[in-house]
Amino acid sequence: MSTYDRSSIPDLSEIGGYWDPNPPGHHGGAYVAPGRLVARIPGRQWPHTPEQCTAGATDSEWVLDGRVLLCTGCGIDGT
Ligand SMILES: [Zn+2]
Repeated sequence: MSTYDRSSIPDLSEIGGYWDPNPPGHHGGAYVAPGRLVARIPGRQWPHTPEQCTAGATDSEWVLDGRVLLCTGCGIDGT
């Protein structure tokens, strides 16, 4: 059983964003490790919630100079 270590994930204040404190129940039906949250970034609107997300594994985008990987469907942390 591996634990997801949030301490290695930078906060988003550098780009004016934050991590949504509400933990997603699942990601398009897939298991979400405890601690994975959705990024809220000014000017970005995710088309889906994690629960409704249909994005594939490759639908992701690096932000914060490549330190945080986000799903482009819902903004969930995929780092
Ligand atoms: Zn997603």
